[in-house]
Amino acid sequence: MRVEIVAVGTELLLGQIPDTNSQWLGERLTANGIASHYHQHVGDNHERIVSAFRVALSRSDAVIVCGGLGPTQDDITRAALAEVMGVTLVRHDEIIAKIRSFFDARGRTMSENNLLQADVPDGATIIEQVRGTAPGLMCPLGDQVMYAVPGVPYEMSDMFERAILPDLLARQRALGQISVIVSRVLRTWGASESGLAEAVAERFDALIDSDRVTIAFLASGIEGIKVRITARGNDRDHALSLLDEEEQLVRALIASAYGDIVFGIDDETMEFAISQRLLARGWTLGLAESLTGGLVASRLVNVPGASTWFRGGLVSYASDVKFELLHVTPGPVVSASAAEEMARGAKILLKVDVALAITGVAGPDEQDGYQPGTVFVGLAIGDEVSHVQLRVPGDRSRVRSFSAIGALDALRRGLDRLD
Ligand code: ATP
Ligand code: MG
Repeated sequence: MRVEIVAVGTELLLGQIPDTNSQWLGERLTANGIASHYHQHVGDNHERIVSAFRVALSRSDAVIVCGGLGPTQDDITRAALAEVMGVTLVRHDEIIAKIRSFFDARGRTMSENNLLQADVPDGATIIEQVRGTAPGLMCPLGDQVMYAVPGVPYEMSDMFERAILPDLLARQRALGQISVIVSRVLRTWGASESGLAEAVAERFDALIDSDRVTIAFLASGIEGIKVRITARGNDRDHALSLLDEEEQLVRALIASAYGDIVFGIDDETMEFAISQRLLARGWTLGLAESLTGGLVASRLVNVPGASTWFRGGLVSYASDVKFELLHVTPGPVVSASAAEEMARGAKILLKVDVALAITGVAGPDEQDGYQPGTVFVGLAIGDEVSHVQLRVPGDRSRVRSFSAIGALDALRRGLDRLD
């Protein structure tokens, strides 16, 4: 079954308010295994609303219309519904009574306009209003159905949960089409969105007509690129097995193009990935940060329980702090050897099993002959000291943010190399 959403309101087209209703409905439909292939926006114009409804009915089994049920002249959803149903509007006295009592209870008089809200297309049933004045509508059209709810988000969501969702699920059951949609996000660091798309192009092409499994890319700025796999199955186990199968194929393609760049799934952050690796070995971590100025430490303490594995960090910003506290050899401090010495120094100073050090040029000016965005990451793991050089893009603040996650990724890879 396919459900289409039509959001009515000129203010949506003008960009005066964001269409959070469609977003919310899309999420709720998906969570209930109901496919939604189209969302439309249409202004408060009778012909255009009618035409949007007809388009929706030509390709969807059910249509949810939100907005335009109020009492003012621009609220014309009811009339448009009557037109596509080919019926007239009938005024319902019991709705008038309800609206009147709504106003009486608030000590206000009902204006004549409100009578319009009691007009119902002949043959439609009412979704009772419990939070405002306009009732919602359920309009059958043969095997299809159109639902209309007010635009006010909390009235819309109440009617959806109370009346529309149960009706949709009952229709799906009647068609023997109950399905469950599940999705998983693979979080990557180190490849571009286009590069990833190229790496998994083979799967993308194979799934182009699939109504079971889809792949999407989500660029998430300093958190990397996410690859979302969504699967629809007849029940939860079926959906999960489709998802697992696709995940293995996608992971293999990514790995053969870029190596080990998937650092987590769903809500797992880079710092979470680090915490898992340290906990598995019972190791502690310390930091020596220069250009990131504490950003890495701040990310690490996002993880609940970080105190069991994170001992602390030194913001060794001035060169002489690097020399005196970390015993870095006096000389240029943006270099591979300085990064390694910082890591070795931090490991001893902070009495940890693993130390991560970052030095580089945040910009805007160059330093020690290096361009902004040149970053050296030092790693001291056990008795081994090594470094990784990063090139990170952007202005000063992006360079610092990218350096922080890039350094954590270098640490993740360093720890994985031990296995
Ligand atoms: P009312 O009885 O309040 O007039 P209505 O059904 O006529 O309700 P609209 O007039 O279209 O609905 O919208 C009422 C208010 O609800 C808008 O001013 C806006 O704040 C909000 N709204 C409408 N549509 C949306 C939408 N798609 N997403 C989020 N908010 C919306
Ligand atoms: Mg209105």
